[in-house]
Amino acid sequence: MPARQKTLTEFIIQEQRRYPEASGDFTALLNYVRLACKRISFLVGRGALSNLAGGSGAVNVQGEKQMKLDVVANDIFLETSEYGGHLAGMASEEMDDPYPIPPQYPRGKYLLAFDPLDGSSNIDVNASVGSIFSVLLAPDTTRPVTVEDFLQPGARQLCAGYAIYGPTTMLVLTLGNGVHGFTLDRGFGEFMLTHPQMRVPQETSEFAINASNERFWEPPVQRYVTECRAGRSGPREKDFNMRWIACLVAEVHRILVRGGLFMYPKDSKDPSKPGRLRLLYEASPMAFIIEQAGGGASTGRGRVMDVVPDSLHQRVPLVLGSLEEIERIERYHAEHDQGLDLPFSSPLFRERSLFTEE
Ligand code: MN
Ligand code: MN
Repeated sequence: MPARQKTLTEFIIQEQRRYPEASGDFTALLNYVRLACKRISFLVGRGALSNLAGGSGAVNVQGEKQMKLDVVANDIFLETSEYGGHLAGMASEEMDDPYPIPPQYPRGKYLLAFDPLDGSSNIDVNASVGSIFSVLLAPDTTRPVTVEDFLQPGARQLCAGYAIYGPTTMLVLTLGNGVHGFTLDRGFGEFMLTHPQMRVPQETSEFAINASNERFWEPPVQRYVTECRAGRSGPREKDFNMRWIACLVAEVHRILVRGGLFMYPKDSKDPSKPGRLRLLYEASPMAFIIEQAGGGASTGRGRVMDVVPDSLHQRVPLVLGSLEEIERIERYHAEHDQGLDLPFSSPLFRERSLFTEE
């Protein structure tokens, strides 16, 4: 008989045994996060049957239209995770301020940051959505949680993961010892280890970017995309394919399985925003996962994991994927900043080039 697949719980216990001093607190916390993801998976899978389709009529702190499921998924994360006594507080895309653990429950030593439903505009068209989470250590557990407690660089994360609600539901996780993927067996409700030690393939011919923002990109990004599009006849000497799922979780998942590059770079569309994606519960956890799988994650000008947040909902430029591509795009940014990338920084080139040239 082939060896039985490990459950997520067994996997976490096995990891915990590598640290004899571990209290088991962390294992218990992850059990609650896993339960939250299962509950959201169930709701998302019910689709229009659950009466939760469409907008909530509200706008979140990001100025984005909230879907009903955004709000419900946020509540599920809160009420599932607050109970166990492992958390000092939580932060979410859908809440302006940190969420303190209610006084009726014991306070623990961890902080949980999450995007309860990533890519939620995909819901109505029945395309993939996900949840993203990140675990930090609370600096002080003797007082209620503050914004400052969460302002730690990604390099301090103890754990990061996401759930993807696609044709199958998967939970993908790093505890700082590689990246492991678990598929939900809907028959008996357990996540099973189906993708041990996921690695980002280094050889790639795919990139993903929202090309409608092209005119707002910086020259290094225009250069990179122009070269990819030039294909075999350009400096890259090979053809590329472009992908765009409009869900960070699904983009990262594809890159873990198939390689490639994902970019939501800095653009000039709204100068008050240095990027689109949020550092604490989108960019940092995904950077941790991609790095643990042998890829890279950059702002274009430095490692995402080293960015120290200055606010709870801070945005950052994000480029992640196969390491060679990350090194290339960082080089293009450096060359641009030193004025070495003419004619790409010439305004004349930018008017004539890219999607308008032929
Ligand atoms: Mn999101
Ligand atoms: Mn979201």
